[in-house]
Amino acid sequence: MIDKGLRIPKYSLGTGDRFAHQANAQLQACVNALEAGIEVIPVWNKSNREHTIIGSEPASTRAAADAAVSRLGWRLPYFVDADHISEKTVDRFLATSDFYTIDVADFIGKSPAQSDVDMFVRSHSSLVGEIFLPGIDEAFCISEENLRGTTTKFLAAVKEAGVVYRKIRSVKGAGNFVIEISIDETDCAQTPAELLIILAAVAAEKIPIQTIAPKFSGRFNKGVDYAGNVAQFERELTLDVAAIAYAIEHFGVPGNLKLSVHSGSDKFSVFPAIHRAITRFGAGVHLKTAGTTWLEEIIGLAEAGGDGLALAKEIYAEAVAHREELCAPYSTVIDIDATKLPCPDAVQRWSSEEFTSALRHDPDVAAYNPSLRQLLHVGFKVAAKMGGRYLNLLDAHQAVIERNVTENLWQRHILPVFLGLIGRQVTTLHPIF
Ligand SMILES: [Zn+2]
Repeated sequence: MIDKGLRIPKYSLGTGDRFAHQANAQLQACVNALEAGIEVIPVWNKSNREHTIIGSEPASTRAAADAAVSRLGWRLPYFVDADHISEKTVDRFLATSDFYTIDVADFIGKSPAQSDVDMFVRSHSSLVGEIFLPGIDEAFCISEENLRGTTTKFLAAVKEAGVVYRKIRSVKGAGNFVIEISIDETDCAQTPAELLIILAAVAAEKIPIQTIAPKFSGRFNKGVDYAGNVAQFERELTLDVAAIAYAIEHFGVPGNLKLSVHSGSDKFSVFPAIHRAITRFGAGVHLKTAGTTWLEEIIGLAEAGGDGLALAKEIYAEAVAHREELCAPYSTVIDIDATKLPCPDAVQRWSSEEFTSALRHDPDVAAYNPSLRQLLHVGFKVAAKMGGRYLNLLDAHQAVIERNVTENLWQRHILPVFLGLIGRQVTTLHPIF
């Protein structure tokens, strides 16, 4: 298996920048981490769906990333991720991305050729029986029936990932880009044993996968905390990390293969579990965030008061008016209680403080309103329609917005996930440990 060429380092943070205005502030969070002694590599991700809604081109993501890297003097690697692409949507990303998240969730459960299943099961008979994972007390018990069933369920998806990988390779050349495979946007979580078999299939397909995004149990709603059984999540995540270590040792997948946690922003209650699992195995992780940054833009505008606060209120009112249309594409990843949404007329009278307390993700603040936050999370289309009016206010209130963007990624994400620190109000660029 190819184990050279462009490599994603151990710790990385996916950042989404819907309107291509926050790359400096996002990168500053990684600079803070570096100054605190830990390398967290930025990966700017934007999906085809986001580009379509905003009306932007992938080249703009690359341009914003390059400009931020040059402005802040960032000397470590960084990447631009063609997020959740497929064979049909990858083309427009071929020139400017060097990280590809190949989404094959739609192919899960599609029947592969019986001969392919037979061949895979025959050539992977060593997976049948007890598999002892490094660093784990228990063993996976995989019967031939399990192996056949899992292969039947996932082989078509892995083969499709191979098709997309080879399409990218034919243009960019082997080793010049990072491959992630995502299977998170599906109904059922994959078990760690399924992940192990999927990785065996990925290796057999000769895809030099560096990150994989499974679906975990529990709900990973957009921009709010994890909803589910935290202990079960931790057990599953730990086994997934161990399964990856096994795959690296036995299947010949690249040695830096790591988990990618999608919709990873704001999952405060599972961040300690992620930190424990990766440190226990010396493993890496890619934490993907996206819309959490756009919400900090709104928070910054509201905090600025005046025309900023007025625009934040207008966006909320529009989002309420178009709630169903905005929520429809995200129905499986949001959980809004419409009865908890304050009426736009009441919001119209809010102060900056009232607006930011409702929106900012601080579970200790009584006024924090997850329903309002999720609605605004999917409401970026409203701002996109405002065009220049929105972008001009981003420029006008740049300082306050940037402060919120950086603080959110640094304090609420990088510190707990990569440094294992929670609840610390670190406001200096030089935290003391
Ligand atoms: Zn995803």
